[in-house]
Order: sequence, then C-alpha cells, then structure tokens
Amino acid sequence: MKIQKKQKTKRFYKKSIWPSIILFLVFLSSCVGMVLTFMFTFQGYLIDTKIADIHEDARNLGRMVDQHTKEQNETIFEAAAFIQVYLEEDRDICITDENDQVLKYYGKTVPDFGRAENVQLMDPYQLIPDLNLAGGERQILLSFPQLLGRSIEALKKSSYEDNRWMEEPLFHTYCWVEVPMQMQGYRMYYRASLTIVQKNIFFMNVAILVQMLFLGVPTILLFVNVLSSIAMQKRMVNLLYQDPVTGGNNWCHFLEQSRKILRRFGNANHTYAVVNLHMLRFQDFCACNGSKEGDELLKKIDGYLKVNMDRGETFARFSKADFGLLLRCRSVEQCEKRLKKLLVELTGVKRDQMISFSAGIYLLHPAANRKERRRRQIDLDQVYHFASAARSSMRGREGEYIKLFDQQILQEQLWRRKVEERMEAALAAGEFRLYLQPKFHPVTEKIVGAEALVRWISPEDGMIPPNRFIPIFEENGFITRLDDYMISEVAKLQSEWKIHGQKQVPVSVNVSRVNFVKEDLAEHICRLVDGYGAAHAGIELELTESAFFGNKELLQKILKELKMCGFSISMDDFGAGYSSLNSLKDLPIDVLKLDMDFFRGDGSKERGEIVVKETIRLAKSLHMKIVAEGIEKKEQVEFLAEQGCDMIQGYYFAKPLPVSEFNERAERDG
Ligand code: C2E
Ligand code: CA
Ligand code: CA
Repeated sequence: MKIQKKQKTKRFYKKSIWPSIILFLVFLSSCVGMVLTFMFTFQGYLIDTKIADIHEDARNLGRMVDQHTKEQNETIFEAAAFIQVYLEEDRDICITDENDQVLKYYGKTVPDFGRAENVQLMDPYQLIPDLNLAGGERQILLSFPQLLGRSIEALKKSSYEDNRWMEEPLFHTYCWVEVPMQMQGYRMYYRASLTIVQKNIFFMNVAILVQMLFLGVPTILLFVNVLSSIAMQKRMVNLLYQDPVTGGNNWCHFLEQSRKILRRFGNANHTYAVVNLHMLRFQDFCACNGSKEGDELLKKIDGYLKVNMDRGETFARFSKADFGLLLRCRSVEQCEKRLKKLLVELTGVKRDQMISFSAGIYLLHPAANRKERRRRQIDLDQVYHFASAARSSMRGREGEYIKLFDQQILQEQLWRRKVEERMEAALAAGEFRLYLQPKFHPVTEKIVGAEALVRWISPEDGMIPPNRFIPIFEENGFITRLDDYMISEVAKLQSEWKIHGQKQVPVSVNVSRVNFVKEDLAEHICRLVDGYGAAHAGIELELTESAFFGNKELLQKILKELKMCGFSISMDDFGAGYSSLNSLKDLPIDVLKLDMDFFRGDGSKERGEIVVKETIRLAKSLHMKIVAEGIEKKEQVEFLAEQGCDMIQGYYFAKPLPVSEFNERAERDG
C-alpha cells in the first residue's frame, strides 16, 4: 500500500471515532442533566409542600392562641404553655416582645443550639424568676438577639443541626416560623420540623428508575459502540503499522517514526545513518527449511534488532529478508563498527545453521540548525534505496559486507537502469555486434581459431565494452538472449564462410553459466546452429569456471549431450578463482583456456612459468587442447611455444576485431 494511502486511512479512522465519542458524551451529559433536573425539581416541590404545611400549622396555632386569650381569658404565656403541652416533642414555641426579645421559650426538651451560631443560650433563672408553669414542662428562656427578626431562611439555617440523608428519616431539619396572631405587644415563633422520609421520595425513586431504564439502555449501547470503535481503531492502527510476518513494525511505521526522529534530533549533534540490512541467501534458507522456518527466523532477527536499538533509533522489515534501520552515530567509523558487531551477532540468531548478512549505509548529513531541521524534506524511501544500492554493489565480492553509499554507486545504478531500459530495443536493432579475437598457432603464427566477443555499439554511448553490461545481463537473465544471439551470429558467419569459400576456423562462443539450468540446452543450441546450416564442429562453447559449481549432474548431462551433437567444450579462465581440478576429471572438456592472470602480476616469473608448464602438461595428459589468453609479449609466445601450447590469444597478435577486419586478417595471414 502506498504511504499516502495509509496515512489517509489512518486519518479517516481517527476522524470516524470522534463522532461516536462526542455523541456518547452529549447523550450521557444530557441524561445526567435530565435526572438531576428532575431530582432538584422534585425536591423543591417536596420542600415547598412541607413548608406550606408548616405555615398552615402556624396559622392554626395562631388561631388557637387567639381563641385561648379571648375566649378563655388567658395570658399569651398561659395559652402558649397550654398549646405546647399538646404539641409534638420537638415542636417548640418562643414568645418575644415587639423588639424580638425572647420572653418565654416552651419546649419539652432542651434544644441543642450548639451549632446555631447566631443563638445565644442564656441562664433562664437569671432573666425570668417565674419559671414554673402548668404541665411541669421545663421552660427555658432564651435570647435570640441576631436571629429573631430575620427571614425564615436565616432561622432555617440556624437549625441545620440534625439533617441526615439516607437514613430514616432521610432528611430532617428545624425551621422557625412566625405564628400569625391578633394579640398585640407580643410575637410568637414556632419551631417546626421539616422531615422527609422514604415514602416521600418513593415516587421520585420510581421516576428516576424509569428514566434510567429509558436513558440507560441507549447510554450503554452508545458506550459499547464507543468501546468497539476504539478497539477497531486499535486494530486498524495495528494493521497499518504491524508487519504481518514479524509482528514488529512495518515500513509505514518506520517512515513515520524516522521522520519524527529526524525532526526532533537531526541536528548538528547527531549524524543519522539509514541502513539496508540484508540476510544473504534467504531464499536458499527457505528452500531448505520451509517458509515457516523462514518466517520464524525473520521474527528472531526482528526481536534481536528491537533490543539493540537505542533511544532515537528505529527499524522495520522492508521486504523478504531486508530490514531498514535508522541509526544514530557519531562518525562513519563508529557506524561501521557498530554495524559490523551487529552483523556478527546476527549470525548467531540461528545457532544450528550458518547465516550471514550484509549492509548498505546512507549517511544523512546533519541539519545546520533547528530551522533547517524542521524545513528539510528527506525522501526516506529514496534514501533507503540508496543504502540498498550500496549493499547491492558489493554483490559477489568476497569478504565485503558493509558498504557506504557514494555518488559512484548512484552512477552505476543509473547506468544499470539505462541498460535495462534499452537492452531489448538494442538487441532488436542489432546494436550488439559480433567481434572476433583470433587465436594463433604459437609456432606458425597462423590463425587457427577465434573467440566471439560481443560489443554494444550504441548510437548514444558509442562502443560499450562487455564488462559494462554482461554482469547486468547475468543478473537479470537477459544474458541467455544475448548468448543465443551470439551463437546464431557465429553460426551465420560459419555458413557465410562456407558459402563464400573463405577460410573456416573454429570459433568459440561464451555461454554464460545462467544457461546451464536448462535441461534442453543442447537441443536448443543445435536448433540455433542448424537454423544456419553451420557445422557443429566449427563451434566451441566456452564456460567459465563458475559454471562448474552448482548442479553437477545436470551440467554433466548437458555437456555430454553437447559433445554428442559435435560441439567442443572449453573451460574458460582456468586458474582464476577456485580451480576445479575435479571438473577436469569428471567433465568432457576439450579445451583449457589458461586465464590471463597467469601472465600478469608481480609474482616470481619462474614460479609462474612452472605453474603454466605443469598445467599444460596436465591438460596434455588429459588429451585437452590448451589456449593461452591475454598474451601481450613476444617472450610469452616463445615460452608457450616451447611448452607445446596449442593456441595463443592476445593483444600481441590481435585485439578483438569486427568480422570484416577479421576476414581481411585471416586472408592476409593465411
Ligand atoms: P573472456 O571470455 O575471458 O574474454 C577475454 C577477454 O580478454 C576479452 O575482453 C578480450 O578482449 C580480453 N583480452 C584478450 N586478449 C587480451 C590481452 O592481451 N590483454 C588484455 N588486457 N585483454 C585481452 P572483452 O571482450 O572485454 O570481454 C570481457 C568478458 O566479457 C569476456 O571475458 C566474457 O566473459 C564476457 N563476454 C564477452 N562477450 C560475451 C558474450 O558474447 N557472451 C558472454 N556470455 N560473455 C561475453
Ligand atoms: Ca571467453
Ligand atoms: Ca577468458
């Protein structure tokens, strides 16, 4: 998935969760609001009703006082005392003068005014000598200098000494109410109790329950929806950021994390390196152990990297067995040292099997300042590919495992792309030309053979030597097409020589090792050669030593078939790299081409000559012909002639020539 697409999806999921959260919160708060409004309204209504009852009681009391004072001709004190006897235990009566100075207080219990801050408790005996009254109730005289004359609310406040919730009664408090009466010169106050019991709020409880049922179910559903949205978002984030094979970070995560790190830390104090870490021959590992084991191995590598990353560093699997790392380093040397250690330690991840790694590094130059750090845009994907190009550039080079990216690598990359883009068209347009390098007899110095070598004559780049495109073709497989073309060209030339009565010499053609996986290679080459009616004996097939590694049985089978078809086989570059002397024993080889390195280098001339002499002897005793390649000096020719070398190929006699020039030379030299 493209990174932009991933970011869009992520944003979409981030957005999509908010409406449900907001909806849930709005719904929840409106539910709570509704329940609270209902509770407060109901409570207000309940208290108002209770207060109305208290006022009603006060009016009744006033009527009774008036009745007693008028009809029974009692004093207000007598009337009040009489009435109080019949009141409930905690309903007290207080009589004051017109200035709200308390004259008498009638109550059955001593009221606890401890918490009523504005009430002053006074010794009644000091103030009023006449304390005994009918009914034997205790009479207490009190003064309320601040309280009296205030609103009923103040009186209520002064009496919140006994309010309790959630017990029976649920709510209990006292309040003072003025008793309306006709008696002049006095005022009378009545301490009423305001009590709310369970049954008063029964209706409210039922109503709240119903409300909760109606509102609670959708609230729970919304809540579940929010939770599942969060879970889904988490799953989506995992999908977006988790590598399906290792379970660790994926590439998208790496890019995002790296950008954050570089924005935060990528200044002059920190040099960052983007690394392409590659496990070599992972394909082979999977072929031998199965892809499941391969995945397990990748998991282990991921786990190892995880514990070896420092703060401000990150990594992720890119593809197959390639990992991208963002490392913080002080210098190139330190970075290489750290990577070397990492590569060595990683080989131990799989104890029972030998595994190896290589790495390419791209150094990110630090930003000069904070502003630049924030502004600069690093294309991390491209940078990673540069690191990967650096690693690929080491392909096939023994003992090299870490490579730093430089401009030359980029040039090679560009060249490679150009070659790959143009190779098909070039083949079709005949830009690949057959050149022939003559092989001479060392004694007669006459042309006795030739090697077919390709040249790319490009209208744009001129003549391109084979080492600039053959390795690329060998990697991308196009070499088989080119080899077919060259075999065909040689076959065509042989038949032309025959038709025109020109001198015919055997021509060797290079056949890349890539061809030796085709079971029907012999048949295929026969078809190509027969297409031009050329004699098989005039064509020699050159194989480099590397072709002799790999599937030996198949190679043996193909070579035998080719021999049976009448082609001769030569081993190219014998002596370069690892000489497979064993191959000489097992394979039907007709010609041995001594590598040109035998005739180069600073080594002792004498020792070199001994090796060449003995190799020629060995080839002779195995009935093989010997071609010495890369011969540039007369003395080399003389030495090889002495040793009985069959053919000489080298600049001493001739460079690779275009066919027309070769024909002229063959005509001239005889
Ligand atoms: P090779 O098959 O070993 O070819 C011999 C190379 O040595 C040729 O280089 C030739 O020009 C060079 N050479 C010959 N004599 C001398 C000498 O005296 N001094 C020096 N310095 N060099 C000498 P060339 O043509 O550049 O080819 C390079 C390689 O490219 C060949 O090495 C061969 O491996 C490959 N190649 C060339 N043409 C083809 C082809 O058509 N098919 C395939 N598969 N490979 C090809
Ligand atoms: Ca060759
Ligand atoms: Ca060669």
